[in-house]
Amino acid sequence: MSNLIADDPIADNQVADDQIAKSTTDVVSGSDSRDPHTINADLHCHSFYSDGTLAPAALVQRARANGVQLMALTDHDELGGLAEAAEAAADLGVRFVPGVEVSVSWGGETLHIVGLGIDPGAPDLIAGLTGVRSGRDARAREMGAQLAAVGHPGAYEGAAALAGNAGLVSRTHFARWLVERGACDDVRAVFLKYLVPGRPGYVPHHWSRLTEAVGWIRAAGGVAVLAHPARYRVGELALTTMIEEFRTAGGEAIEVASGSHTRDQVRRFARIALAEGLEASRGSDFHSPIESHADLGYAPVLPDSVVPVWHRW
Ligand SMILES: [Zn+2]
Ligand SMILES: [Zn+2]
Repeated sequence: MSNLIADDPIADNQVADDQIAKSTTDVVSGSDSRDPHTINADLHCHSFYSDGTLAPAALVQRARANGVQLMALTDHDELGGLAEAAEAAADLGVRFVPGVEVSVSWGGETLHIVGLGIDPGAPDLIAGLTGVRSGRDARAREMGAQLAAVGHPGAYEGAAALAGNAGLVSRTHFARWLVERGACDDVRAVFLKYLVPGRPGYVPHHWSRLTEAVGWIRAAGGVAVLAHPARYRVGELALTTMIEEFRTAGGEAIEVASGSHTRDQVRRFARIALAEGLEASRGSDFHSPIESHADLGYAPVLPDSVVPVWHRW
């Protein structure tokens, strides 16, 4: 069901489960911090600077309470929450890696490339993300116009009011507004009725190119990670091509353990990471206490066979 929204850079983790899956088997104890496999690392989550619902400091507090030892904040196309998160992490004794999640259009799909260990002041990255965000606002206004035409006037303004960051109004914000308005029972229902291809509030959009996104991340000193690879609606051949282009562009890691991956998918992408010489990342993709698949720190554990990307930090 999450495949229905896999083309969206923002909605990724929002509509599949209403309750957070918390399984103690997914928590790493962190008893030996010298072994990167036993660290509870969560290198993918969102604050209200993009489409999460928590402030960066609240995210860090929640991560620490859940036993996370190393975390990255990876807001969509946005760096604004990093300073606050870094400060909170320093105060609370959580190791922090500055991150971002860049929206990419590739072969009719929207891909997400997480950048980890980036310099938030890097000019190429800042300029690239500014360009991506400007396209996003135009898309949001068009979505508002289409929703007005089917009986929901003021949708853009309503969604914008729910966005912590006025420059980053996403489909998820429209969905939350439509739920508040009583148009549907929950966010998932809104997506199915209004916000996927063929429905009245869906506006296709061209994000950045794969080579551009990886280039911005590398120019900022970061490591590019192909996020939640199980979520893309592509066959084996296209997946192989995607990974090849990602590697050729300078991509170095793949998110083997995502909060939205099943255990079979974790094993599958661990095999792919090994075969392709990619390092492996782990992240919950946490957005909200009531909408996300997995709480902070509760993604599946990385298999021992792969090289954790966080050996770098
Ligand atoms: Zn994503
Ligand atoms: Zn994400």
